[in-house]
Amino acid sequence: MQTPLSFDVLVIGSGASGLAAALSAEMTGAHVALATKGSIQACNSAKAQGGIQAAMGEDDSPELHAADAMKSSHETANPRLVEVLTSEAPSAIHWLEELGVEFNRENGGYRLARCGGATRKRLLQVGDRTGHAITKALREAFEAGGGTELPNHPLVALEPLENGWRATCTPKDGEPVPIDAGVVVLAAGGRCFAEAEARGELSTNHPNATGEVTKIVLELGAEARDLDALQYHPNGGAWPATMQGYSIPETTRAYGAVLLNADGEEFTDSLGPRDAVSQAIFDEVEQGRGVLTEDGRPAVWLDTTRIPEADADVSLPYMLRRYRGAGIDPLREKLYTYPVLHYQNGGLVIDEHGETTLGGLFACGEIAGGTHGRNRMMGNSLLECCVFGRRAGRAAAKKAGRRGGKGMEA
Ligand SMILES: Cc1cc2nc3c(=O)[nH]c(=O)nc-3n(C[C@H](O)[C@H](O)[C@H](O)COP(=O)(O)OP(=O)(O)OC[C@H]3O[C@@H](n4cnc5c(N)ncnc54)[C@H](O)[C@@H]3O)c2cc1C
Repeated sequence: MQTPLSFDVLVIGSGASGLAAALSAEMTGAHVALATKGSIQACNSAKAQGGIQAAMGEDDSPELHAADAMKSSHETANPRLVEVLTSEAPSAIHWLEELGVEFNRENGGYRLARCGGATRKRLLQVGDRTGHAITKALREAFEAGGGTELPNHPLVALEPLENGWRATCTPKDGEPVPIDAGVVVLAAGGRCFAEAEARGELSTNHPNATGEVTKIVLELGAEARDLDALQYHPNGGAWPATMQGYSIPETTRAYGAVLLNADGEEFTDSLGPRDAVSQAIFDEVEQGRGVLTEDGRPAVWLDTTRIPEADADVSLPYMLRRYRGAGIDPLREKLYTYPVLHYQNGGLVIDEHGETTLGGLFACGEIAGGTHGRNRMMGNSLLECCVFGRRAGRAAAKKAGRRGGKGMEA
């Protein structure tokens, strides 16, 4: 085995949460490495389209945002984590803007949409490539600093040391690389790609969403919660075949699209919480009121022809391009849709700084649990990545400094 690399803080995973944690640890003065399974760009975060929630409207507040998140979770979320999430949302948005993210604006303010389960318009967007814009800004800021990137370094093992942790990352077809760090931040995302494969279902997820990092730390004794609560995105693309596994942004419904059964009836509140909307679609199909795609898949209609062209042009350009490229114009024809496996609601138990139940081991983003309870609201995941990634990075750098690392120089 080669001599271990050594850092104050090692971040595992390069989605929005890992990038936010690595950047924030680096800005706090720590010597940081960011190790990830594939390329630095490969993650679910960059695929996120719809947007990010923050109480920015004049009629809104972090308290209303928190109440909506608690209600959508059926009161199963951790209220303290929700309070942190919603109260720090506006400052997370300003942080992203300082890093170069340009959210859509109109009439001198943000262009806000109402997403499922929300009582106010609260969703900020960058067209329908919000995750791409956020990860690009975070990545560029991290790369402008002194941190080390270790792409193609999947974590395969983790063991405690007297003063920190030893991670082993083994590149494909390569030798194991030992990496010592005072503190490790786990930001390796969820497991819905692997879960969908096991169930023979479609998933919206990136192939790297396989969940092995969670297994590694559960074996070390970390606590987790709600791991069985997986979320279906109500609007998977069902036809044409090239759109299967694509998640039609929830903002289509925010801008006027509605769900219809075979008889053209609206059978549910199209802006209800995700689990309720998905269940309504499953039930409608089960009771024989669905439609069948050309390849015989169950579906209902998403009537996107009700979306005003001006809204679609600003907020759904990528979705329009994808469907038009596949031969369907969503502003002229309804779309076939059916729920698709999308998100791991639960995960590792964390405190308000992102520390797991194992000291010196932090977690943020989809790998962590509690912020959404058993049912996440759309737009709260990118927010969680930024708020808790930033918090975990800062706390990890401080803790590594206390352990005798080079952190806290700044
Ligand atoms: C299609 C789609 C659309 C979405 N739209 C929205 C939206 O509009 N708004 C919203 O809030 N949320 C949305 N989400 C959810 C949200 O994007 C994700 O939940 C969130 O970005 C997860 O971020 P993350 O940093 O926790 O994980 P990810 O972005 O999944 O990143 C995980 C990282 O860990 C790496 N990794 C995995 N295993 C290992 C390992 N063993 N060793 C090292 N690295 C590893 C991966 O390669 C990746 O870089 C969407 C998700 C999808 C898939």
